Amino acid sequence: MLKGKTALVTGSTSGIGLGIAKALAAQGANIVMNGFGDVAGAQAEVAALGVQVAYHGADMSKPDEIAAMMTYAAERFGRVDILVNNAGIQHVARVENFPPERWDAIIAINLSSAFHATRLALPAMQAAGWGRIINVASVHGLVASAEKSAYVTAKHGVVGLTKVTALENATSGITCNAICPGWVLTPLVQKQVDAKAAALGLSNDDAKKLLLGEKEPSMQFTTPEELGALAVFFCSPAGNNVRGVAWNMDGGWAAQ
Ligand code: NAD
Repeated sequence: MLKGKTALVTGSTSGIGLGIAKALAAQGANIVMNGFGDVAGAQAEVAALGVQVAYHGADMSKPDEIAAMMTYAAERFGRVDILVNNAGIQHVARVENFPPERWDAIIAINLSSAFHATRLALPAMQAAGWGRIINVASVHGLVASAEKSAYVTAKHGVVGLTKVTALENATSGITCNAICPGWVLTPLVQKQVDAKAAALGLSNDDAKKLLLGEKEPSMQFTTPEELGALAVFFCSPAGNNVRGVAWNMDGGWAAQ
């Protein structure tokens, strides 16, 4: 379905971004990957799906590196047809204890990076008359949790950016939508499970159950594969008139 298209997925060396990159690759899209850690391993997983894979190591907190990544993607594949703004980090502390440098990093990586990549991707999409922008927000783009001030602020901002981008392009073939996962068992969340286990003297399994039980009625983690399938739907012809939604896949979290 996506043969001949190019998808750039930020933060795609791990977790949800890797899951979305693989789902788009399985539909035939060439992939530009980004992120830190096991770059070679992640690239190999996507390349195994038989598409062309490129990588740019832009630090998404740095606008000039984001610009270099977008230029690289355009030079390598002609243009970016599908942009997935996914890179993100977390820090947990009460507002009065929240380190200002962590606040700045979360706003830069989780929110401003989506603005920069979007503004740089749009002109080529507008010239082509087709594009898909998918912002990986969070259920925290819809509701709040204590001790996550920067994250909740950034994710609510991403949902706002999604709506404005969708409206500004509403008469074109460019759509912009947000995905709002609840708990997904990636390294980002495993850190929170570990912190709970250590603080309360719990096993890994009991800490996971506690985490789910606090928020997620289904008592199940959403998977990167399920989120990848939603991204594929947004890219499909059936998604042509889905514009500006913030679609939660959260086991009922925000329904409460
Ligand atoms: P993860 O830690 O597995 O992956 C994060 C990715 O972002 C990695 O590839 C990492 O290298 C990259 N990254 C981090 N900082 C970066 C930077 N400065 N520049 C470039 N890349 C950077 O986490 P994840 O859970 O897969 O999170 C992906 C997205 O999903 C985030 O935006 C997160 O907020 C969101 N999300 C996660 C959950 C969850 O439960 N895991 C729930 C809702 C939303």
